[in-house]
Amino acid sequence: MEVNPIKLAKDTEICKDCINVVVGKGNLNADILFVGEAPGRKEDEQGEPFVGASGKNLDKLLNSVGLSLEDIYVANILKCRPPENRDPLPEEIRAHTPWLLKQIKEMNPKIVCSLGNYATKFFMALGEVDNMKKQPGITSVHGKVQIIEMDGLKFRLIPLFHPAAIIYNRKIQGLWEEDMEIVKKEIK
Ligand code: URA
Repeated sequence: MEVNPIKLAKDTEICKDCINVVVGKGNLNADILFVGEAPGRKEDEQGEPFVGASGKNLDKLLNSVGLSLEDIYVANILKCRPPENRDPLPEEIRAHTPWLLKQIKEMNPKIVCSLGNYATKFFMALGEVDNMKKQPGITSVHGKVQIIEMDGLKFRLIPLFHPAAIIYNRKIQGLWEEDMEIVKKEIK
């Protein structure tokens, strides 16, 4: 019997311990899906992704390239906050990403932008969690368009630096804006 992807995620310990399951926000009809890592404390409290410090920076970054939440949808690899914001465990990624893939199937975006290392490595490993460690880091692949075929899906992946990594780094902000020009060109 097919396992229900939502139940699979909700059955994990982190989902039992969190305040809110954080599914996503933005425009489900948009051409661009952003995928982050996991909800933090503010996201857990409010039930929305990217509402804390990195979310404020994401809003600012989108604004700097003339985009808003009307132009994108935002989701995460994990739907629940790991305690103390620790890194996601392989078994949590395995249990939560079928829900993300279901979201991608339903939304059918032209471009998926992975924010930071976890999301980028998940897609570049084509969902094989054991292969994530072998994937190149965000510094070497950001802004490079990759064709991803996995789980009956085909889409263009454009890895981007995570907004949290940009908060205190103007140089990375410049690179993010350059990478977003590539994203905008790809959706034309
Ligand atoms: N960082 C993420 O990767 N996702 C969020 O939702 C918030 C912070």
